[in-house]
Amino acid sequence: MSATAARPPAATEVDQWLERFGAALERGDAAGAAELFAEDSYWRDLVAFTWNIKTVEGRAGITDMLEHTLARVQPHGWHATEEPTTADGVTEAWIEFETAVGRGKGHLRLIDGQAWTLLTVLDELQGHEQGLGPRRPKGVVHGADPERQTWLEDREREAEELGRTIQPYVVIVGGGQGGIALGARLRQLRVPTIIVERNPRPGDSWRNRYKSLCLHDPVWYDHLPYVKFPPNWPVFSPKDKIGDWLEMYTRVMELNYWGSTTATRARYDDGAGEWVLTVEREGEEIELRPKQLVLATGMSGRPYTPEFPGMDRFKGDQHHSSKHPGPDAYRGKRAVVVGSNNSAHDICAALWEHGADVTMVQRSSTHVVRSDTLMDIALSGLYSEQAVAAGMTTEKADLTFASLPYRIMAGLQVPVYEQIRERDADFYARLEAAGFQHDWGEDGSGLFMKYLRRASGYYIDVGASELVAGGQIKLQPGQVDHLTEDVVVMADGTELPADVVVYATGYSSMNGAVAELISQEVADRVGKVWGLGSDTTKDPGPWEGEQRNMWKPTQQEGLWFHGGNLHQSRHYSLYLALQLKARAEGIDTPVYGLQEVHHTR
Ligand SMILES: Cc1cc2nc3c(=O)[nH]c(=O)nc-3n(C[C@H](O)[C@H](O)[C@H](O)COP(=O)(O)OP(=O)(O)OC[C@H]3O[C@@H](n4cnc5c(N)ncnc54)[C@H](O)[C@@H]3O)c2cc1C
Repeated sequence: MSATAARPPAATEVDQWLERFGAALERGDAAGAAELFAEDSYWRDLVAFTWNIKTVEGRAGITDMLEHTLARVQPHGWHATEEPTTADGVTEAWIEFETAVGRGKGHLRLIDGQAWTLLTVLDELQGHEQGLGPRRPKGVVHGADPERQTWLEDREREAEELGRTIQPYVVIVGGGQGGIALGARLRQLRVPTIIVERNPRPGDSWRNRYKSLCLHDPVWYDHLPYVKFPPNWPVFSPKDKIGDWLEMYTRVMELNYWGSTTATRARYDDGAGEWVLTVEREGEEIELRPKQLVLATGMSGRPYTPEFPGMDRFKGDQHHSSKHPGPDAYRGKRAVVVGSNNSAHDICAALWEHGADVTMVQRSSTHVVRSDTLMDIALSGLYSEQAVAAGMTTEKADLTFASLPYRIMAGLQVPVYEQIRERDADFYARLEAAGFQHDWGEDGSGLFMKYLRRASGYYIDVGASELVAGGQIKLQPGQVDHLTEDVVVMADGTELPADVVVYATGYSSMNGAVAELISQEVADRVGKVWGLGSDTTKDPGPWEGEQRNMWKPTQQEGLWFHGGNLHQSRHYSLYLALQLKARAEGIDTPVYGLQEVHHTR
């Protein structure tokens, strides 16, 4: 019996598909390659074919993408990297391939021999690989050299020159976890980069948040690129601890990090093909001229506070949740927290723990999911101790997640949340009996889709919901009408006496940061940042297929956005860094399917 005949059918099915697919691509037959996909099918490409982050749908979409890219990409060498698996009629395979400029990875799902989903990602650029593993730097040149410079001298010289006598190729505005992760990727790719950050120290954007905050996502989901959290790291990282980790990381990853530096204005010089960026660094105004400008100013970087009549008359403390100092000063005081999402719940619980009389004002419904249940049902397959024990790596988990096109993700999430609803039926019944308005997302797809669509409207319950259900945190439905000197008055006339009012009312889009830093004209040209075009609340259609403007080319030459949660920041920083590196090296990067702008904010 031949080796091929002895192989399991899944492997044969995948090998045969890849062979036919590779052959069609090599003869430039876009339609022939598309024929290997099912009628309902999706090809998600992260930079490998499109120099974009793009999902194309159906055979027509695939044909069009290939017709525009194939001649340049010259893909070849398709093969499976491990034994494919079959479950519920779907065969899954991890794959690799090469292009004219780099090496790619991917994931394939076949149903009845036809592709249902294909993910392709550019993993590295040929000749510009990261200095990792066997390519790690030696750190020293052995021998005798009278001109020898130490590592420290080199670092100090670089810090003195970059931004002064040598211009950075990239400036990242915002040195939170997003800016730092991207900075680390660019460092490994040897792209001269400066990160400018308003706060003095890396990690301050976490440190400055309310005192009781711990990450809502578990450690396995949160690793930064290259340096994993150690095995003794807590499941839910306290905010000051993650701040310290980011500070340590910035240092050991040798990032050029300008703390206490604010980017004040920027304009694109079309003639020179570069940005003129003014920053204020510890009182000194400096002009930088990077070719590429990345805004990593945070999805939660620009607090949104509503305007209520009488706010100027109110005699107590009032502040946005991002400025909440913590509960200590409010023992025995009356606190009104406006809002019912994550921050509102965390702040209410901490105030209650410190003996305040707490009322949460709920204007619209919130999706709540218990942290334990979320970890167990939604995350454990990819991001958990069990997943690690079963051999799951962070990279593979991220790529598995990325392999699900957004168009079908919502549908796949619905049963997950049905299971959650069933398991925690008593919990939800108690919550709703207390008058809490709860939802599961407009199509029942739950937390992650709400995050991708609007980045708001949910609470991952770590204890506050029982306080709401039990009445320890009082619930006030409806809209605030106005404030008096010491009362929050609701639209229905209900009066809530208050010593402190916290506005846990969320954040506004990164599009506003463009208007502030560059101009309203550029902000409008680039359009809304974030969301999928799902035609649900705060995410108007039409369907975009990918997150608006994130990690990919925008309608403004040389302007990019980076950010998201730790998982997204880790994963997508690689693809953004590769796009920037390719440009730095003068590699041709024609963008397929540059997104159109349908909404300005
Ligand atoms: C209460 C809360 C809890 C969260 N919990 C989690 C969680 O558990 N897990 C998770 O993954 N995510 C969580 N997030 C979401 C997200 O991961 C964080 O908001 C995270 O801080 C985002 O990182 P970032 O780097 O994109 O933005 P930020 O951390 O907001 O950093 C942006 C930085 O840009 C700087 N900046 C802005 N404008 C300028 C300028 N003009 N010049 C110089 N600097 C500028 C700011 O000072 C800031 O430091 C949470 C968010 C909030 C608000």
